[in-house]
Amino acid sequence: MKTDILVIGGGVAGLRCAEEASKNADVILISDGSGASPYIHGINIPLHADDNVECFFNDTMKSGRYQNNTALVKILCQSSLELVNEFCFDKKGNEYDLLKPLGSAYPRVAGIKGKTGISVIRSINGDSFTHLKKIRAVKLICTDGKVHGAACFNKVTGKHFVISAKAVVLACGGFGNIFPYSTNTSDIGGDGIAMAYDIGAKLCDMEFIQFEPSAAVFPEQLMGKSIITTMFYDGAVLRNGQNKRFTDERVDKDVLSVNIYNEIKNGSPTPHNGVYFDMTAVPLNTMLTKYKSYYDRYKSCGIDVSEEPVEITTMPHTTLGGVKINERCETNIDGLFACGEVSGGLHGANRLGGNAGLEVIVFGKLAGKAASEYAGMVNAADDVSDEFNDRESLQTAEDKKILQKAVYNGLNVIRCEEELTMALEIAGSLINKYKNAENDYNAVRLYNDSLTAYLSLMSALKRKSSVGCHIRKDSASDGYAYTIDIIKNGNKPGIEKRLINGYKR
Ligand SMILES: Cc1cc2nc3c(=O)[nH]c(=O)nc-3n(C[C@H](O)[C@H](O)[C@H](O)COP(=O)(O)OP(=O)(O)OC[C@H]3O[C@@H](n4cnc5c(N)ncnc54)[C@H](O)[C@@H]3O)c2cc1C
Repeated sequence: MKTDILVIGGGVAGLRCAEEASKNADVILISDGSGASPYIHGINIPLHADDNVECFFNDTMKSGRYQNNTALVKILCQSSLELVNEFCFDKKGNEYDLLKPLGSAYPRVAGIKGKTGISVIRSINGDSFTHLKKIRAVKLICTDGKVHGAACFNKVTGKHFVISAKAVVLACGGFGNIFPYSTNTSDIGGDGIAMAYDIGAKLCDMEFIQFEPSAAVFPEQLMGKSIITTMFYDGAVLRNGQNKRFTDERVDKDVLSVNIYNEIKNGSPTPHNGVYFDMTAVPLNTMLTKYKSYYDRYKSCGIDVSEEPVEITTMPHTTLGGVKINERCETNIDGLFACGEVSGGLHGANRLGGNAGLEVIVFGKLAGKAASEYAGMVNAADDVSDEFNDRESLQTAEDKKILQKAVYNGLNVIRCEEELTMALEIAGSLINKYKNAENDYNAVRLYNDSLTAYLSLMSALKRKSSVGCHIRKDSASDGYAYTIDIIKNGNKPGIEKRLINGYKR
């Protein structure tokens, strides 16, 4: 199979990219599911009367603890206002109806009836490109520093095959599922990072994993479903197992996650090892307009959140590090682009709520434009022949559990050298076990997850000081902002640590 541009991932980043790229090129998009994008409740746009792009920029940098890639933040903030011409955001009278995210100076989250992600997905013109579903890329094909396509696995037929392309865009989301539980859907994994790293792409900020302060631990059917934290500005509070408030809720997400984690570990947890998210003081009309999807979700399980609190905990939510990109979503590999959550650098060490949804809309389109310009300049891709002898898949479920447990112990909200090192050893041994398992889908997926975990753990070990969502209990902040980049050096990861000029936290 052959195309100009192969887009890997069918969330908002991938779809926006494919739509834009298909204006000038032949595009195939592959996906396994819909990823996190349908859950985007709202996105940041500085539409409040007192707000502006500069203030939005400052909040994003401050939230990110000045670890952000400034050039990417500028593009994000400057492009945000253009979206009011593209989408119809909710209004109250003549004013935009905005929510206030944690860490933001003004109400800034604009939404489309609580279903912003779904609305953006529905706005895509899917006729302009080919979308192949239930297909997973497992390996990128690269020779002489140039990408030529990807080896893929068809989950319906159980067969591997190759898609050749002049350019490949990674839009395959974060890697939250290397944890035993997270707020992510099951199609999200470590493939994107591992595939990129294996062909020499540079990664950055791999230690920054954002924990959502409020994800359900009960009832069972809602496990991992997050509750939007803007509700703290509308009357919601947190209480411990003894019904006592234990934290100021209106703090940055990274700080709130630590406070919840500590209360559960060392204070008074609730029966399901969480804390109470108490929405009973949120006015009912606000609940039924701004937060109806959350109200309905619990109501379908027989719980009326306007009358009783629910149990939540902090869980891995979005990954802030990933494939290093420039302002055109280019990587250091010719023909390889990345956009959305699989890329790194934009959010720094702590993501401002509402910026991930904006990121995928803005950078998905930019990646599509840049990839189609690139494809217009290079020769047609060679059709790389199918040379697969599919192997019967190994049983990897037990090893997957071992990896996830190690990741949970090593990369939790609060980290230390000893636990990180133990987890690194486990991830390393699984990489060795599965590294030659070509054409075996289960084994390659576990190899990719183990490699991604290893790189994240390694980066977390290297960053000895605490910053944002990377909290080391064995060392405090050193006050400096620096990036940790990882690039393959021979068969080993090479680490580059670089001070970010001009910023001292
Ligand atoms: C529950 C939840 C609620 C959220 N709410 C908000 C919010 O209100 N506002 C906000 O700003 N952000 C929010 N976020 C974050 C935001 O949703 C994500 O960061 C964003 O949607 C990521 O989009 P994406 O297109 O990069 O990846 P995703 O939407 O995750 O899509 C990834 C795609 O890649 C595919 N894929 C993965 N691996 C492969 C592979 N190997 N081969 C082929 N396909 C692959 C997946 O199947 C999927 O199609 C939320 C996240 C979650 C989990």
